Amino acid sequence: MSHRRTPSRSLLIVGCMIAGSAAIAFAHDDPAVPARGALAQAQPGTPATAPAAQSAVFDTVQIRTQPVAGGIYVLFGRGGNIGVSVGDDGAFLIDDQFAPLTDKIKAAVTALTDKPIRFLLNTHYHGDHVGGNENLGRQWVPIVAQDNVRKRLAFDQYNPTTGRTTAALAPAGRPVITFRDTITFHMNGDSVIVFHVAPAHTDGDAIVHFTRANVVHMGDCFFNGRYPVIDVNAGGSIDGMIAAEDVALRFMNDSTRVIPGHGPLGDKAALKAARDMLAGIRDRIRPMVKAKKTADEVVLARPTADWDAKASADTATAARFVRVVYAGMTPPAPPAKR
Ligand SMILES: [Zn+2]
Repeated sequence: MSHRRTPSRSLLIVGCMIAGSAAIAFAHDDPAVPARGALAQAQPGTPATAPAAQSAVFDTVQIRTQPVAGGIYVLFGRGGNIGVSVGDDGAFLIDDQFAPLTDKIKAAVTALTDKPIRFLLNTHYHGDHVGGNENLGRQWVPIVAQDNVRKRLAFDQYNPTTGRTTAALAPAGRPVITFRDTITFHMNGDSVIVFHVAPAHTDGDAIVHFTRANVVHMGDCFFNGRYPVIDVNAGGSIDGMIAAEDVALRFMNDSTRVIPGHGPLGDKAALKAARDMLAGIRDRIRPMVKAKKTADEVVLARPTADWDAKASADTATAARFVRVVYAGMTPPAPPAKR
């Protein structure tokens, strides 16, 4: 099997992303969840969300556990899907959703094993995947991620497309072990290959391959049954998403179980369907970008119409997705001359 690797892109854009960010919110993939922090704002100009409202959202969240294969489980709660491997060596955790859910997540892990969490891997830096990092880091769980995840978690990350800012994490919540291209865990009788792909959903994406169990956690390089979020301000693009999915498809077979970042547990066919959908949409939008259509004109042309029902997307969701794809294909305007 080959896991193609490409050097990570530098973080030149981080400095200018930080400059000028005033509101502290929590960029994540779940617009229903209030942003973190009293200064949070979901959209520019909307009122800040009070901390009490945030915790009320999480009070009702239940963590649901589904077996995948070979001692691996997926935990569904709120935010990015969590992968867990349990066995003789302890628990290996992939992502940790939101801080108020940490105790519930730990209880779900304890129901699977009486052994401790030995490692936490972050698939990327978004708040709905790393929100429990500070809690777990303070409990001495070593956190592992691609180099760019640690860099981004050290500073507030403003996203001009959504108007949200992902707040930096305290040092306890940042990865203490990072890798550029790949790292392998030898745990619970499996060789777990974690590899970075060229910027796809973000510039710090990692895909996790349990080689013996034949299970893959795609992080947010795969949204199963819906349009993906693509963080174009952090290096993501629809081309990158398609390329990352192609890399993963190459080492899968029909028995591979695939944990998406969001949506239900899938398989190779589900990933292929998502990949083909993205390629189809890209091929509709790209000629319009080349023809210098504006974002509004592209949205009006409804380039996703053939896929909206399959992605359970209403008009507003489809329009938002088109605008993100468009933004990823159009370089920002150069700064005005003084
Ligand atoms: Zn994400």
